[in-house]
Amino acid sequence: MAEDKKKASVFAGAVMTAEGMSFKGFIFSPVVENCAGCERVAAFEEQSFCPAYADPATKWTRGICNFATHVKATVDKEGKTKVNPLKASKRAARGR
Ligand code: SF4
Repeated sequence: MAEDKKKASVFAGAVMTAEGMSFKGFIFSPVVENCAGCERVAAFEEQSFCPAYADPATKWTRGICNFATHVKATVDKEGKTKVNPLKASKRAARGR
């Protein structure tokens, strides 16, 4: 209940426009499939938006979203980013 109130107030004062949700001078686009499970997702007028990044689709085009709470990225020896959502989930459950 308290969490619902907190999420509802995240976009307080926002208005829906033809381009998307307008909030604090920015136009926000709805979250994308990769955002499913992220704790930052907040609802506004029956759509879900990210208060941390206005255009989630762009955020995911170059790899993992660095604001995401549901996946963690690791860098392998070759410098490539790897993600193991299952491991990240288990680590989060253990509090590490
Ligand atoms: S922080 Fe990243 S993963 Fe989470 S909702 Fe925003 S764009 Fe999506």
